[in-house]
Formats: sequence, structure tokens, C-alpha cells
Amino acid sequence: MSDPEFGGHPNLVRRTAFPASVSRAVVTPLQPSVVYSSPDPDALDDQYEGRAAGYTYGREGHPNADVLAKMIDSLEGGPTEAGQGGIITGSGMSAVTATLLGLLSSGDHIVGGNQLYGRSLRMMTQDLPRWGITSTLADPTDVAAMEAAITPATKLLLVEVVSNPTLRIADMDGIEKLARDRGLILVVDNTFTTPYGFPAFTRGADVVIHSVTKLLAGHSDVTLGYVRARDPAQRNAIYDTNVTLGLTPSPWDCWMAERGLYTFDMRFQRAQENAGTLAQLFADHPAVDAVLYPGRSDHPDHNRAGALLDGNWGNMLSIRLKGGRAQANALTRAAPQVAFAPTLGDVGTTLSHPASSSHRALTPDGRAALGITEGFFRVSVGCEPISLLEQDFRFALDAAAAVT
Ligand SMILES: *Cc1c(COP(=O)(O)O)cnc(C)c1O
Repeated sequence: MSDPEFGGHPNLVRRTAFPASVSRAVVTPLQPSVVYSSPDPDALDDQYEGRAAGYTYGREGHPNADVLAKMIDSLEGGPTEAGQGGIITGSGMSAVTATLLGLLSSGDHIVGGNQLYGRSLRMMTQDLPRWGITSTLADPTDVAAMEAAITPATKLLLVEVVSNPTLRIADMDGIEKLARDRGLILVVDNTFTTPYGFPAFTRGADVVIHSVTKLLAGHSDVTLGYVRARDPAQRNAIYDTNVTLGLTPSPWDCWMAERGLYTFDMRFQRAQENAGTLAQLFADHPAVDAVLYPGRSDHPDHNRAGALLDGNWGNMLSIRLKGGRAQANALTRAAPQVAFAPTLGDVGTTLSHPASSSHRALTPDGRAALGITEGFFRVSVGCEPISLLEQDFRFALDAAAAVT
């Protein structure tokens, strides 16, 4: 049982050196270490004071998060100075949390879009008020409504470019000007649009957020977020909040997301192309009352989308079936191969039904005001061969139409 490397002692505890190799691994190594061993206290001083690069403790940062952040930074473009790099967080919601709690204090006020991601709305209306931060929600397609919601305590605007689930397009030029004129921090949750659809920093965002869980990682097998701020002081405040609240991501999830990101370009192009084709199929089918897709000329914000998205209309579309719950049930039952699941951005197509999921807490009248009926579906179009999607959806829509 004696081991010459350990002076003849058996070794079960001390880490064995990793085998040397003159050839290097092609794939990014997965580094799960929670702690890092420095040579001496002087070296630790150098690390903490920024004179030397080095990791200390996994919650404060680790290589797999940094590799992923750099990749998303390069997609987002924008600021390139040291101290402006993106931060990976444990989920999209932790990116929202770290941003709002990092940049705001008790007494501050937020103006937010009125059709943001459901949990962001909940955080602003139910959670932040307990800590003295209040919010007013306003329609981001109407910059006058956003302006009217500003109070002397307002510090920050939180918007998504494409609203969920009705896919209206925010007046981003107007909102950017409003933020500049009034000295407010403009935070853009760019999840739906992705860095391809909307170059947020170039268009004046101060802080950009992603749920990496969605299109960027793209395979519904990791939950992660990303946040990047233009101002290094704001970046540090968000970073410290992320670390203090323990919102940091696991190396494994970062490694998985990096793997997904290699094909983001191809997945996005393919899914977007499929979405355009499916939008027309839906529009032509007698079971469908309305198709909501920014790339269609009948979309209420089509011209604005054209100016903001540079032809990247995205992979998200919504439809309103004629009829209600019975037709909705028939559609999902007739297409069991299309996942009926409340998410978006998966490599495969997923369907969600806001009336029974994201918007179930609203009254039927509240939903009707948003145009969300029992026959309303949001479709996150994936990368299947388009002929397969056409076949599945024709069959499912025929089944919905057959309900009497
Ligand atoms: C999903 C989503 C989030 C939250 O992301 P998680 O990774 O699920 O925490 C935030 N904003 C938008 C627009 C989203 O779609």
C-alpha cells in the first residue's frame, strides 16, 4: 500500500498531480474547485488588490463562469474597458435581483414595463416594496406613459424590448432618450431579443441582462443569468451583491452553457427562419384568429421592429385560436411531440399557454385587456426541419378546428 510519491505512505487524502501531457485538451476544462490555494499571504494580498490574477473562493468567481461571461460579452459588444465585463449569475432572476438590489436603496423608485417577465413583475410589485423600493408599471410602447410614471425618487428604468406574451415592441429610442434626459439608469432585459436581435449597449442601455437559460444556452438543461454594466462602479455594486447574496453559478452549469453557446448562431438563424414560415402557416389556417409576429406587416409595431431589430424578428410568435379552452386542449393533445412547457429558447419548439400558466393569477378580464384568451398560445420556435413542424402544426390546428 506504500506510494513512493508520498514518501512510502499510502495516499487517500492528498491530491494526486494531474498527469502531464504535451498535447492540450481541445475542450475548456471543467473546474469544480470551490477553493484555490495561493503560495503565501503576500500572494493573496496581490490577488485581492488586483496586482495578480487568481481565484480564491468559488462564490467570488471561477474560471468556467469567466469563460462563459467573455463569450457573451463578445456577442453583446459594447464596452471594452477592463472592469466592464459581464457577470454570470445562478439564474436570469438572480441577474435581475443582483441588478436591482445592487443599484437601488430604500426610498428609490423603478419605472418598469407593464408586460415584463412574470417574476420580474412580482419582484417589483410584491417583494421590493418590503425593503422600501417601489415601482410603477407603464406601457413601454408609449414613451409618454413611461415618462408620466417617473417620480422624483425614480432611479432606474427596467424594460424588455419584446413584451411577453403579446410581442409588442418597446419604443427603445424614446426610452433611451428619456433615460438620458432624466439621468436614469436604463436596464434592458435582452432575453427575448438576444444580442443578435438588439445590440442593447449600442442603443444606449446602461445595464444588460440575459436569462442564459433560454436561447443562449439553448437546451433547457441549465438555469443561468448574465448581467453587464457600462459603468465600472455599477458593475462592482452588482458583482458584490451577487456574491454576498450567494447568487453565483455552478461551474458545471457554466460549462454546459458554454457548450450550448457554440451553436447559438446557427440555432438562432434556423429558429428565426422557421418562425417566419410557421407564422404564415398559422395566418393561413382557419382555426387561427390572429398571429402576432413582429416580422409580419400586420403586427402593430412592425415598423418599429424593423428599425430596432435589423431584420432579426426572432423565434417567438404568438397565436390566438378561434374558440377557447376546448380548442386549446385539442391543439396540445394533437401535438404531443411539441413540448407543452412554460419556457422558451429550447433547441426544440415549445408551446406555452399563458392563461393557465404565466398569466393564471390575472382575472379573465385582466387577461382580456392584454388580448390573452383561452385560445392564446405563445410558440417558441425551435430548430426542427421545417417540414416536420408544418406537418405537426397542420395536424394540431386541424384538430382544434374540428372541436365544435
Ligand atoms: C426566463 C426569463 C427570466 C428569468 O430567467 P431564469 O433563468 O428562469 O431565472 C427573466 N427575464 C426574461 C425575459 C425571461 O424570459
